[in-house]
Amino acid sequence: MKKKMNYKAPRGTHDILSTDALGMSFLELKAREIFKKHGFEEIRTPLFEDAALFMHSIGRTTDIVEKEMYTFEDKKGRKLALRPEGTASLVRAFIEHRMDTIIPSGKFFYMGEMFRYERPQSGRYRQFHQIGAEFFGNQSPVADAEIIILVQDLLFAAGIDEIDIRINSLGCKKCRPSFRETLIEYFSSLENLCKDCLKRLKKNPLRLFDCKIDSLKFVKAPKILNYICTSCKNNFYTLQTLLKSVNCSYNVDETLVRGLDYYTQTVFEICSKKNGAYGTVIAAGGRYDNLVKELGGQDIPAVGFALGSQRVLSIIDEHKLLNNFGTPERIFIAVIDQELFNEAFSFAVKISRYGLNNNKNISVFGPKNEKNLTNQLKYAEKIKASKVLVFAKNEFKNGKLLIKDMNNRTQTENFIDEL
Ligand code: ATP
Ligand code: MG
Repeated sequence: MKKKMNYKAPRGTHDILSTDALGMSFLELKAREIFKKHGFEEIRTPLFEDAALFMHSIGRTTDIVEKEMYTFEDKKGRKLALRPEGTASLVRAFIEHRMDTIIPSGKFFYMGEMFRYERPQSGRYRQFHQIGAEFFGNQSPVADAEIIILVQDLLFAAGIDEIDIRINSLGCKKCRPSFRETLIEYFSSLENLCKDCLKRLKKNPLRLFDCKIDSLKFVKAPKILNYICTSCKNNFYTLQTLLKSVNCSYNVDETLVRGLDYYTQTVFEICSKKNGAYGTVIAAGGRYDNLVKELGGQDIPAVGFALGSQRVLSIIDEHKLLNNFGTPERIFIAVIDQELFNEAFSFAVKISRYGLNNNKNISVFGPKNEKNLTNQLKYAEKIKASKVLVFAKNEFKNGKLLIKDMNNRTQTENFIDEL
């Protein structure tokens, strides 16, 4: 006997079904509208890249590169990785297509699957979706403000308004080395740091603020904002003035550092303030002025963000979302007299193309290869049809169909041409 198959989606992945799939489309649709308004163009990059691209950009001592990358060798021994995030790929594409030399600026967005080998839990998957954007070639905090406002508008459009925007500055190439030393000195004086903190202490002391085990021990740590240079301070101040000018409320969080190495100056996180999801980080981003150059391009500043689509969808009210989308009415085409089957079929095709006179937003089911009317009606009930249009000889010869309203169980007749 054949062995029964028992396949499941791999751990940390999931099928996106029904209203969740609708929700994902809705969110992506809204995002596209907003990106268009801000002049962002789409780039679709491969799902896998040279593993070295991510190691080099995200940084070797980050969670992503140390623990979470899906790396593999192809048949020719190339070391590849499923993309864990979008920025590195976009920067690679920006340079590869010589956009950094031809027009050293650009606004791009992406949306799609990302892959991280994480311990699966609520809101944390191994394959998940992000929507993100990168704004190249603008050194000014005006670009930072535009990105933050764009993410806020996107969340508002998706029906999420209880949010907390947290911002910080991580300084630049000039001022970071000095407070880096100060931080190393401070952290070295503490006892009982976790394994990861000890490892990162010398290489990347900023990352310690992001430690999920030790971060509470660092309340007395030197504040980065006290050490950044005048130009970084001014930029951070300008950013806040711009946000205030459009009534965008934010909080300065001096311990916000973000988990990736490439950030400089502005970093931000947007968390949910909704009951039950309080503190969930939905979107994050910041400025990365050195990355284009470090990956072999011209010296071009940039700022961007990424939003976790599943996290957004987990806090959206599903009814609100479906109302927004306009749920189609489900129509089932039934046939009593089988010689009318072809008529019924072509009618079904017609209304699926052009809709009904009084409703263009419909989903059409049937006719079905089933002679028994009771069985056809049972099926209509199962698929939650709200109307059944019945092809029956007597009515059809007068140019009419029977119309069963499945909600209040009434039956009427109507001329086909009027439907
Ligand atoms: P965290 O601290 O939660 O691990 P992160 O700093 O790794 O987040 P980013 O790399 O900034 O996250 O990714 C941007 C957004 O993508 C996050 O704010 C989150 O909404 C979402 N995200 C990140 N990792 C996952 C995951 N494994 N599953 C689902 N969504 C994720
Ligand atoms: Mg993470």
